[in-house]
Amino acid sequence: MLPSLEKLRKFFRLEHENGYNNTAIIGGLVKILDFWESEARAESVDEAVVQAVTQRLKGYEALTPSGRADSLKGLWKRLGETYPDTQQKPQGQPRPQPRPQQPRPQQQPQANQQVQQTPAPKVEGEEMPKWLEPETKSAPPQASPPVGGTGGGSKPAPRAPAPAQGRSDTAPGGKTSATPAALNAQLTVLQGVGQKHASTLSQLGMFTLGDMLYYFPRRYEDYSQLKPIKNLWVNEIVTVIGAVQSVSTRPVKGGKLQLTEVVITDGTGALRLTWFNQPWIANRMKEGDNIAASGKLSQNLGRLVMTNPDFEPVEAEHLHTNRIVPIYPLTQRITQKWLRGLMNQVVKYWAPALVDHLPDSIRASANLPPLGRAVGQAHFPDSQDELKKARARLAFDEIFFLQMGVLGQKRDWQAATARRFETSDEWLGARLASLPFTLTGAQTRALDEIRRDLNSGRPMNRLLQGDVGSGKTVIAALAAALVNQSNAQAAIMAPTSILAEQHFRNFTNLLAPSPLHPSPEIGRGDGGEGRIRLLIGDTPEKEKEEIRAGLADGTIQIVVGTHALIEDPVQFKDLQLAVIDEQHRFGVDQRAALRNKGTTPHLLVMTATPIPRSLALTLYGDLDLSVMDEMPVGRQPIETYVLRPQELERAFSLIRSQIKDGRQAFIIYPLVEESEKLDNLKAATEEHERLQKDVFPDLKLGLLHGRMKPDEKERVMADFRDKKYHILVSTTVVEVGVDVPNATVMLVEGANHFGLAQLHQLRGRVGRGAAQSYCLLVPDHEDAVENERLQAMAETNDGFILADRDLQQRGPGEFLGTRQAGFGVLKMASITDLPLIEKARNQAQSLFEKDPNLEMPEHKLLAEALGRFWGTGKGDVS
Ligand code: ADP
Ligand code: MG
Repeated sequence: MLPSLEKLRKFFRLEHENGYNNTAIIGGLVKILDFWESEARAESVDEAVVQAVTQRLKGYEALTPSGRADSLKGLWKRLGETYPDTQQKPQGQPRPQPRPQQPRPQQQPQANQQVQQTPAPKVEGEEMPKWLEPETKSAPPQASPPVGGTGGGSKPAPRAPAPAQGRSDTAPGGKTSATPAALNAQLTVLQGVGQKHASTLSQLGMFTLGDMLYYFPRRYEDYSQLKPIKNLWVNEIVTVIGAVQSVSTRPVKGGKLQLTEVVITDGTGALRLTWFNQPWIANRMKEGDNIAASGKLSQNLGRLVMTNPDFEPVEAEHLHTNRIVPIYPLTQRITQKWLRGLMNQVVKYWAPALVDHLPDSIRASANLPPLGRAVGQAHFPDSQDELKKARARLAFDEIFFLQMGVLGQKRDWQAATARRFETSDEWLGARLASLPFTLTGAQTRALDEIRRDLNSGRPMNRLLQGDVGSGKTVIAALAAALVNQSNAQAAIMAPTSILAEQHFRNFTNLLAPSPLHPSPEIGRGDGGEGRIRLLIGDTPEKEKEEIRAGLADGTIQIVVGTHALIEDPVQFKDLQLAVIDEQHRFGVDQRAALRNKGTTPHLLVMTATPIPRSLALTLYGDLDLSVMDEMPVGRQPIETYVLRPQELERAFSLIRSQIKDGRQAFIIYPLVEESEKLDNLKAATEEHERLQKDVFPDLKLGLLHGRMKPDEKERVMADFRDKKYHILVSTTVVEVGVDVPNATVMLVEGANHFGLAQLHQLRGRVGRGAAQSYCLLVPDHEDAVENERLQAMAETNDGFILADRDLQQRGPGEFLGTRQAGFGVLKMASITDLPLIEKARNQAQSLFEKDPNLEMPEHKLLAEALGRFWGTGKGDVS
């Protein structure tokens, strides 16, 4: 028998011998709980059993001696259902008996899993103390009413988002495992929660007590500021306490609705409370009752009224009112009040018992409240200040776990070996000399870093981040040439066919033999044609086959393409470099798929989305970072203007004058890119026609939209580049990466429909040559001229500043892209909270340096919590 159960038996027997007078222990049997609960949990006694014991002993004192006898007997019988050995005659030597391990799923468990009780084999014919004789009825386990935290000794560990792993009972040295079953107990152990409720709660992701602790409020209502009725204002959300003056229910709206009206007074004034179609409310209160009502004040015929308020008698604990009240996400069939009540039960009782997985040193240096307190306060805060601290602590954990995971991934990645590519300075010098321009300092640095990575023997895993127009393509091309030099292959994946085609052309030009260097390695003397190929969805099947063959036998050295690269049954002879452009447009799986076309190939991901550094290090902490923060020389800052809708003609005249100077212009109209809708096509065509006919009859206008076939798009783009059009009317398909240096005007109509990042991308389509360029933003309507985003665009060309603003204004979606996969686990942390991110990152980093595998005993809890955190969301987040 487990020692804690043996102890119980000892006290129970004593109590029996004393005639059930509640003297077996000073202060009454309930005092056993002071030490027993923690011991029992430390031994991983089944939670339902712990709850049953707690429950019974709490009510013990109030019973008559015969009631007490029944109670203890019933309890012992209950224990026997889970621990048959307790029904046996006491042995001389109590010995620990490990319970079988319970394998736990990594994914969210299904509703009907996790039954913890084992059936109770009857123990027949055993001699037992009289008072332990089996009885016929057994009481259902019930939740304990709130008590303080458990005493000293080991306490249960928290069950963070994912279910816990199997547990062990005792660890070496008598130290108990940190992950007992306690918080894995099913919700049916709670009073008032049967199978039905449990299954409803499971739909909200709550399967166990631990899940409940981590099921946080969606928001809070602060009812803590009580106000006298005379000081109330319309639209305020308040709690008012008053005496009921009148109660009435009457039909309104021709009998369709029942209106219940209660008037309360508090000596300073009277307030009307109304409810629709809840006539039962009238029976809940009578004249003279004091009630607390919480809700929002509105005005009706000049008088204040509170509609559908929460209310309760003031004697009650004011759980629903008069404090900061949590509002939980709900599902059908349960009410806010019910869930809150249940939460209160669980949180009050369990939160203090949570063991903190963060080492004290981290908690101290990051100035965080203990986990138990944080969880408790996150549900039922005592004050706004406590709430803030609590949420900050929980948010810290998330970012910290995330960062630990990312660091672990980085280490794993770095543990792999990769082929070395050595480059001579001569080779590189010759390559650079054949480029039509000199690299910027930033480009040179990035290239150096890549060169070093490629020769490191470890797979490169680098994020190349550079604002639009900073010249990332040439870096990718040089990296590709570098691996080609050793007869290895490179693949470049871009999000759209326009971009893939442009890259293909650029690569071909940049890597083509020049008169100075007639025999660059890329073509090994044959001019390079055929060694760089384009593979997109639209590539004719026959050509695709040819490309597949060429990639398989190694005659093709570089393939540029879209998703087709990974969707196709493409096989490489020796893929050593995978480049992903505009990486946020791709999913985690797609990036992995490209990488998996080779064996630990070097990986270069590129993005034009400037991410604040600390954010980048969190989101992409597993990647090394190269930042190109310098534009090619001769670029002039783009002048940006926000115009009123009626000033469109000014924009047109600027376009005309630029075209007179031999420049070209983009006109973007606000339609959803690649929209499937036919009206998109229609609108695009009509807009194009209208501009052509009414505004620029003497100029040539091209039209580009997402509904066009890739070869049509390509032809239009090529014609625009070749100056066959003066103006390109387009949807946002030109947003990503398109490069026409002669274009100097970007006119965006309906600019208020676009996000900052998108506007910045669009603007980046001009200003790519030496000439002064202009970006004209014209919102739909006058009011939007003051639109913050548009004004921000006018204020700065700096992508980093804009990214920061975007982050503040719109949250991280724009940056996360499909990386969100790994961020579903964030419940508390806001990715916009850069100080928090920085703090958690620093802590994670220094811990990782000390104990990367979390093998030190003091990090055991943390290792477990981390495993649970990643249990649900882990994947390749690169
Ligand atoms: P992005 O970083 O947005 O992908 P690109 O690679 O498309 O930028 O480069 C933008 C333009 O700048 C292209 O026309 C490219 O040829 C040109 N370019 C790149 N590097 C330089 C440089 N060092 N000097 C001058 N022009 C450059
Ligand atoms: Mg680009």
